[in-house]
Formats: sequence, C-alpha cells, structure tokens
Amino acid sequence: MREVDFIVIGSGIAGLRAAVELGRAGSVLILTKDELTASSTRYAQGGVAVALSDDDEIALHFEDTVRAGAGLCDLEAVRVLVEEGPQYVQELIAWGCRFDRVGDQLAFGQEAAHSRRRIVHARGDATGREIVRTLLERVRELPRVEIRPHAFAVRLLVHDGRCLGVQYVETRARTSHTVRAHAVVLATGGAGHIYLHTTNPDVVTGEGMAMAYEAGALLADMEFVQFHPTALHREGAPRFLLSEALRGEGGVLRNRFGERFMPRYHDAAELAPRDVVARAIVTELQRTDADCVYLDLTHLPAHFVRERFPRIYQTCRHYGLDLTREWIPVSPAAHYFMGGVRTDLDGWTGIAGLFAAGEVSCTGVHGANRLASNSLLEGLVFGARAARRALAFASSAPAPPSLQESNVSPEEAEMDGAIVRRLRTIMWEAVGLIRHGDQLRSALDDLEALRRAAPTLATRHLVMVAWLVARAALFREESRGAHFRTDFPAPNEAQWRCHSIQHRERGIFTHPIGTEVFAR
Ligand SMILES: Cc1cc2nc3c(=O)[nH]c(=O)nc-3n(C[C@H](O)[C@H](O)[C@H](O)COP(=O)(O)OP(=O)(O)OC[C@H]3O[C@@H](n4cnc5c(N)ncnc54)[C@H](O)[C@@H]3O)c2cc1C
Repeated sequence: MREVDFIVIGSGIAGLRAAVELGRAGSVLILTKDELTASSTRYAQGGVAVALSDDDEIALHFEDTVRAGAGLCDLEAVRVLVEEGPQYVQELIAWGCRFDRVGDQLAFGQEAAHSRRRIVHARGDATGREIVRTLLERVRELPRVEIRPHAFAVRLLVHDGRCLGVQYVETRARTSHTVRAHAVVLATGGAGHIYLHTTNPDVVTGEGMAMAYEAGALLADMEFVQFHPTALHREGAPRFLLSEALRGEGGVLRNRFGERFMPRYHDAAELAPRDVVARAIVTELQRTDADCVYLDLTHLPAHFVRERFPRIYQTCRHYGLDLTREWIPVSPAAHYFMGGVRTDLDGWTGIAGLFAAGEVSCTGVHGANRLASNSLLEGLVFGARAARRALAFASSAPAPPSLQESNVSPEEAEMDGAIVRRLRTIMWEAVGLIRHGDQLRSALDDLEALRRAAPTLATRHLVMVAWLVARAALFREESRGAHFRTDFPAPNEAQWRCHSIQHRERGIFTHPIGTEVFAR
C-alpha cells in the first residue's frame, strides 16, 4: 500500500496553501477530483477582503464580519482571520501574486456590507485564477509534493479515533486505491451542487462534508447557505456569477417594469447584505410574476466597466449581452456554505490526524452569513494553520498502524443522474432561500427515499449532505442571516443564538457560540 506523510484532498486555495506548508516538511499527495484547476477558487472574481489600505483598520474588518454574521460568529476565529489575513496576503504578493494596483499602491475595491474599500483583486475580476496560478507555482517548486488530478476521494479511513488514510478512485483509469498517511487535510470546498441553481463549478458537491460525517466528525451550521443574488439568468448559459463588486461600483437592480426596487427593501439598497438582496429579488419576482430581475450598469462609463470587469464583460458578450449598454438578466443561485466540518482555530476536526480548511470547514468566522470576499482569506489563513497543526501532530503522534488494503469499486465514484436531478430540485424548492417547516419535513422524507435508492457512494454522499442541510434548517426554528423561515420569521436570541451541530450517532443538537466543541 502506498504511504505518504500527508494527504491533502482538494486543490483550491485552502488545499494549495496547506500543501505549500506541508511540502516544506514532508511528502504530500494532493488528490483532486477533476482537472487541477477545477475549483470554486478559480472562479472567484471580486477578490480578497483584507485590511491593508491606509484608511482601513483591522478592527473595522472585524466589526463588518461580525455584523454580517448576524450573532453567530465565533469572535476568536474572526480575530484570527482579520489579524492574520494581511500577513498571508502580503506573503502571496511576495510569491508573485499580481493584485491590481493604482500606481505602486494596491487597488482596493468596494463590496456590500464593507465599511471601507478593502477588496484586493487581480486582472480586474480574475482574482481566483491569479491566486491559483501563484500557489501552483509555489507547490510545483516543492519536489515532495505530488498532485494527482482525476483522483476522487470516496472514504476517510478512521480506526480507533484516528484518521489513517484515504480511499480514492482514479476516474480516468477506473482504478481504486488506498493511501496511508500521518495526517489528512480536507479541503474539498462547499456543496453548491445540491441545488438546482448554483454559481459553483461541477466539482463542488460536498463530499468532504459527507466523508467527515461518516467518519464521525461534527458538522456545524449546515442550515446556513448563502445564495448569491445576481447569477446570470439566460437560457443555455451557466449560472455565471455577476460579482457583488458590480453593485459596489454603482450597478443597480431593476424589476421587469424598470423600477429600482432595492431602496424599498433596505436602507443600503443594492449594497444590503447578500441574504437581504437575494430574498428581496425572490419577493420581487413573485410580486411581478417574473423569472428574473435586471442588473443595470448602463449609467457607468463604458471604459470603466470594461476595464474593471473584463472577464464578466467578455462572458456576457459571449452570451449576447453588453454590460455597458443593456440590463443583464439575473436571479439568485446557491453560492457558499457557511457551515461544514466543525474545526478549532487550527483546523482540527476532533478526529486525530484529520484536519479541514476552507469552505468545507466551519471555523465560526462567517456565523450565519459570510461577508463578501472573506472566504478566499479564510482559505489562506486557515489552510496554513491547519497544515501547521497537521505537521505538529505528525511529529508527535506515533506512526499510523498498518491498514488492510480494501479498495472500493470504481463505480462508487459515479453519480446517478436521475437521483441528482431530483435531489437538486427538492433542495431548490423546499430548502432554498425561503423555507417553511412543512416543506422541510416533506423534503426530508423525499431525501430519505432518495438515500435508499442511491446506488453508489458518491450519490449517497450528495444525498447525505442535502439531508444534513434540510435537517438543520428544520431544527433551527427562527430566521437569522442566510436562514429564513416563513413560519419563524424573526431571530430568537434567547433560544437560537447558538450553533447547530450534527453527529452520526448523537443526532442534532445546539452548542454555545465561542466555546470549544471537542476536547483536545
Ligand atoms: C463564482 C464564484 C465566485 C466567487 N468569488 C469570490 C470572491 O470574489 N471572493 C471570495 O472570498 N470568495 C469568492 N467565492 C467563494 C470562494 O471562491 C470559495 O469559498 C473558496 O474558493 C473555496 O476554496 P476551497 O479551497 O475551500 O475550495 P474550492 O476552491 O472549491 O476547491 C475544492 C477542491 O476540492 C476538490 N474536491 C472536491 N471533492 C473532492 C473529492 N471527493 N476528491 C478529491 N477532490 C475533491 C475540488 O476538485 C477542488 O479542487 C466565489 C465562489 C464562486 C463559485
């Protein structure tokens, strides 16, 4: 059986940043289920939120993050994020990441719910690509890091409370493998593809969450799914994201009658928090019997729009739309998971040898709603921290005991198309932006039936993640942040200012904010 020091699952910002740290000290195998660059990270447009400008302060970034989190942020995690963020962004720049500049100063963009211009971006709206390019260059300089594309992890091997390795399928060769390691870092991203409409690329299906849950880890705050208000709504086009930054720079939203409606919903109008804008759009769609609203940038100088948003401009052109001359049809789509595998501040999952970072994890930094552009920063900061903790673990823990080679059948990595389509529709209709107990209960029944019918491990994992989201949404009898229920339309501070936690055997329960969930 193959043996390495460390396995990293995922090649987005969190996985690559972790691999840079680990590869300096030991052998690393990066498993990634498709092409190396297939990840949400690659599609990130707006940029990275970081308090680096002269008129900004770490304390302001902290306050904005906590305000967006609607009472559920773990303050210590937020403090780590905003205080350590600047050093990790500077490090990325030192490694050759070319963020946009005005003269020799970094250019800072504005996004909703940020009290300062603090979003660093690259090539206008191609920030994610530039970050991936930089980190990959760094990883490739490390001779002991091996990257394995089309390697689909299907199971974490946990025995006696310790993670010993991973089973994966090489999807091109249709072969299956077991690898033993001192420590495993999960960096598999979110789970946008449990929804019919999502901005996430195809690889983002929540396997990391399902594998960790099966292995006995805790999943936290799964009910909090952020829906991006403005994904392209065009027949035959993917749900391409029209970044928050478009509204940050002055874009406005109009309904089918041309009326600018956001001022009726929130004082900050188009710059209100994402959940407010997304729900306002859904309400407006119902009110006007329409299936999309429109993003209008036609009042901004055309050269500014083309230069500031070159990729968005080109993509819209590709689908026959000119951002500088016409309104762009948009509607909400599932975008980001605030919840995930519960970790401490060093990415530890509570299972010896298993660490998690990035969107798959829940450190508590985002609370009930993520502040725009905080997730790339989270991947950088907590990717590095999780790796350092994994290194410390590997140097102090005894070598992992030997493992029986027990490979899964390669078919287990395939998804059942019919079940996936049904699941995504159920989730969109009953566990989406606007929820109600009756619909959630019926969604859980439907998902249970899908679980019984699911023929492969990958399909069962997708159903499991959907079920965990629906169960948490039913459990939380209030509305807060990204979770909105018409049968409990207000926050309930007395009862629900707490995390929801799910465990394979212990079921679902609450846990107070800002306290350790598991013993060291
Ligand atoms: C369109 C879009 C725009 C965004 N814009 C911004 C932005 O401007 N600023 C910001 O801060 N955030 C933004 N986000 C969110 C941000 O990009 C993500 O939260 C972040 O990149 C997640 O990084 P990650 O490393 O955790 O996961 P990802 O980047 O999603 O990477 C996950 C990796 O895991 C791999 N993987 C998954 N399952 C398996 C498996 N079973 N086996 C092997 N490999 C697996 C995937 O192939 C992928 O390589 C955006 C997201 C999208 C979709």
